[in-house]
Amino acid sequence: MHPILCLVAAAAGPVFALTIQSAGSNACLNLTSSLGFSRVATSQLDPEYISSRGDYWNVRQSVYAPSCVVHPESPQDVSVAIQAIRAADSRFAVKAAGHNTNNFFSSVDGGVLIDLSSMTAKSYDSATTLATYEPGSNWGQLYEYYQQYGRTVMGGRLSGVGTGLALGGGLSYLSPQYGIACDSFRELEVVLPNGSIVTASSTSNPDLFFAMRGGGGNAYGVVTKYTVQSRAIGNFYAGNIVWLFQQKDTVLEAIRDFIAYNTDPKASILPTYEKLTTPDLNLNLDELITMFLVYDGEDPGTAFDNFTRIPHIIDTRSIKTYKEVADMPVPFTAELTRADNVFRSGVHRIEDDSYNVLLETWREWAETHKASYIHTGFYMYPVPRSLTDGSHAQGGDAMQLPDGPWYWTAYDLATPPGLPNAAYNAIQESFREMVESTPNAPGLPLFLNEAAWDQDPLATFSSFETLKQIKNKYDPDGFFATRTGGWSFD
Ligand SMILES: Cc1cc2nc3c(=O)[nH]c(=O)nc-3n(C[C@H](O)[C@H](O)[C@H](O)COP(=O)(O)OP(=O)(O)OC[C@H]3O[C@@H](n4cnc5c(N)ncnc54)[C@H](O)[C@@H]3O)c2cc1C
Repeated sequence: MHPILCLVAAAAGPVFALTIQSAGSNACLNLTSSLGFSRVATSQLDPEYISSRGDYWNVRQSVYAPSCVVHPESPQDVSVAIQAIRAADSRFAVKAAGHNTNNFFSSVDGGVLIDLSSMTAKSYDSATTLATYEPGSNWGQLYEYYQQYGRTVMGGRLSGVGTGLALGGGLSYLSPQYGIACDSFRELEVVLPNGSIVTASSTSNPDLFFAMRGGGGNAYGVVTKYTVQSRAIGNFYAGNIVWLFQQKDTVLEAIRDFIAYNTDPKASILPTYEKLTTPDLNLNLDELITMFLVYDGEDPGTAFDNFTRIPHIIDTRSIKTYKEVADMPVPFTAELTRADNVFRSGVHRIEDDSYNVLLETWREWAETHKASYIHTGFYMYPVPRSLTDGSHAQGGDAMQLPDGPWYWTAYDLATPPGLPNAAYNAIQESFREMVESTPNAPGLPLFLNEAAWDQDPLATFSSFETLKQIKNKYDPDGFFATRTGGWSFD
């Protein structure tokens, strides 16, 4: 449910809440008889229920209690679940690996949680070089599987993230070579809001295929199988470099130069400026700069020299497999920081010097609000011309990426679990104001995957009106629009 609808529900009081509960219970009752108890967990003490409810990167979502958790094993199971939910007029959520930080995007309170984690079939066809996978594996599991064929699929930069990433575009270390993850989709198997199972490809339901390439998860249907163009891989030269914050401006200049001038698409960077709540004490224990340097190949040449020549305190670069690259530890973010996590995103052009303002604005806010968070990070994601060319060469996607170079920014904020609502809302509002204080560059799409629910990223897509029409065609009575969370087309 959209967070605003939740507030409305709360204001409407116990009768409304009871209606939600009983619609969910009715759907669950039907599902236990059609799918069986092995695939439907109704007790909050059932281990399957506990693990589905508890496994969110934003742990604040674990407070929500679904009426039951369904673990489908086939597209037919998903179809049965959607039809039962529709018949009961229940709320629901679709969950892959639960890394989206927005409430009710993959969590639900008093409705049906469709947890796709049991759907893990995967295959590789050496004749076509196409790969197929169901939605339940995380990227680390997929990279490990395809490695035996000397291939990989386009997905997340960290192992634990799930396949919902590709429906929101999907930035990979290989993106400067092949575009974003959804550009490599070749065919999707989709359960539509009316329960029917269809194929979406360039020749079958091409409008649906267009929308599901980066137009966001769970808006148009539930994907039960991905067929994608796989990519050849060998070893990588990759690792983390860590600098003390004294190097912040020098590193920022090097990032700027990389975004503007790097011409080697095998070279990828993921820079993060990090702040911890710990006191400074003039020991520099509260802030650092971490950068993933990832080269597709064993010899990066001079691609990263501008970074490595800046004096640093840690350098973990070595030859690694792709799975090892995705498993690289991150000092304070990612899988280690399971807390009340939120993301916000921005988009900027490199020519306007906004990067200086962005870094200083975030750092000043982080200094001023030190007692309110566990961790906060400021990330810069280059979008080089080779990435946008790679996207266009495969037919483009719902983001309709304008020619690079430009860059996305992301900010994360980890607050202590269990903050009272007033304190939580106050720090979130202040964080929002900080991010919004530097306007985004016009004409560029926001990074959907790390946008906050109120940022309205789809409205920044040049394809927005087309997506809206496609949404209305495949969800004509607004069943998904009103019964599950996700991006709004209003
Ligand atoms: C630690 C971390 C690292 C990240 N790294 C990257 C990165 O490298 N690149 C990047 O692009 N993004 C990255 N992200 C952002 C990430 O892509 C989004 O959070 C994404 O939504 C996560 O997908 P998921 O499957 O894990 O999450 P979920 O919360 O399970 O799903 C996300 C959304 O997609 C929907 N969905 C999932 N599967 C389906 C399906 N089969 N059919 C229909 N709808 C579906 C869900 O309902 C939900 O709305 C990262 C996030 C975190 C927390």
